[in-house]
Amino acid sequence: MTGRRIIRLGFCNLALAILLALNSEVLASDPAAPSVDPAEALNRLKAGNERFVQGKVGDHKSVLDQRTATAQGQHPFAIIVACADSRVAPEIVFDQGLGDLFVVRTAGNLVDDHALGSIEYAVEHLGALCIVVLGHQRCGAVTAALEGGSAPGHINSLVRDIQPAVAASKDKPGDALTNAIHENDAEVAAKIRKEAELGDLASKVQVVEGYYNLDTGKVELKEH
Ligand SMILES: [Zn+2]
Repeated sequence: MTGRRIIRLGFCNLALAILLALNSEVLASDPAAPSVDPAEALNRLKAGNERFVQGKVGDHKSVLDQRTATAQGQHPFAIIVACADSRVAPEIVFDQGLGDLFVVRTAGNLVDDHALGSIEYAVEHLGALCIVVLGHQRCGAVTAALEGGSAPGHINSLVRDIQPAVAASKDKPGDALTNAIHENDAEVAAKIRKEAELGDLASKVQVVEGYYNLDTGKVELKEH
């Protein structure tokens, strides 16, 4: 093989590598998508939750249109870190459609490395700048942590990670469970602010604590 041919093959491989890299970047991030300002994102969430509270939800384009519109790319305007509780589905309580919210859910709305990686991806590649940590009334995971002791299997890792919030809130006046839920929200939000690696976008991101009231459907958002 001649030297010129080797060089030409090398160039082809380089060109292919660049093409693949560009293509995967386009698929991953879709740079044409404008980011929604956190204040605007919070307004959309508040308006959607108000519709949910009033029971006037679902005034979206059809699910078929939503599916078609989002099939080739996603541009969620907010990240919701919610408890996995079946009654706290963010798309429903904020009355949003397919592709509107990037949702990370675990019992107790905890964040581990996988959750932090998911958040970083949504910020850096999808342009979502508003993060809501959504705890809720009568959370079973926080209740288990409040009761103390150890839980079976991997449930114990949830309880263990919530117990610092229980300890930090134990002397506060009022309902111990509600206080622990709020403290857990605050600690998870603080962890995201401290540990999520968001690069230049860190200063543009807003992390907000939310508390969902099962009785009323209302989400209280605590903006700092
Ligand atoms: Zn819960």
